[in-house]
Amino acid sequence: MNYSIAIDGPAGAGKSTIAKQIARKMGCIYVDTGAMYRAMALFLLRNGIAAQDGEAVSRKCREADIAIRYENGEQIVYLNGENVNGLIRTEEVGIMTSCVAVYPEVRRKLVELQQKIAREGSVVMDGRDIGTCVLPDATVKIYLTASSAVRAKRRYAELVQKGERCDPDTIEADIIRRDAQDMNREISPLVRAEDAVLVDSSDMDIEQVTETIIGICRRKGCL
Ligand code: C5P
Repeated sequence: MNYSIAIDGPAGAGKSTIAKQIARKMGCIYVDTGAMYRAMALFLLRNGIAAQDGEAVSRKCREADIAIRYENGEQIVYLNGENVNGLIRTEEVGIMTSCVAVYPEVRRKLVELQQKIAREGSVVMDGRDIGTCVLPDATVKIYLTASSAVRAKRRYAELVQKGERCDPDTIEADIIRRDAQDMNREISPLVRAEDAVLVDSSDMDIEQVTETIIGICRRKGCL
């Protein structure tokens, strides 16, 4: 029997790190839905589309063919046939992403792709609307969060490690802005699903969070 584990939460809560570990330990596929939205944002940026121009975004997004493949256990996002994994993690793309993720045409296209992947096998899927919208019948729903200060610190460390130049205060301000954007949009806002278990990782390390969530999955019958 296939199962699905939905992990939602704000930027920098550690969703992708945790979801990857869970997928590895449980032997299922990790689906990073943020990467799909990021690839779409990259496509729109490259085409000079302004995020505020809803009509242009809705029209142009139809031309983006976004696909996911797994190579050596890693999720690779293809944008019109090009591997864009190395191009979608910048702050510029992150900010554009939450601006264009508000449009129904963008969401419809990516949600369909996500639901198709989940039908094909067991998954750990992370994002903002997985438990509420993409997989409302998910076997396990987790709402993973942490304080904005802790999340900013983690995101800063991640960017510095990648060699990106950034300033910690700007990162925290960006995180707060993206939270507001994601939580207040009209369609599929980031909210904790009623049946999601809240996990606050502010004072937990990766191992503790992973074990907590795996414990919840086991109790729900995922093996
Ligand atoms: O998770 P990540 O930070 O890569 O997501 C980037 C942005 O993509 C989020 O801030 C959000 O605006 C959007 N997103 C979304 N729905 C998802 C996943 C991501 O709206 N399921």
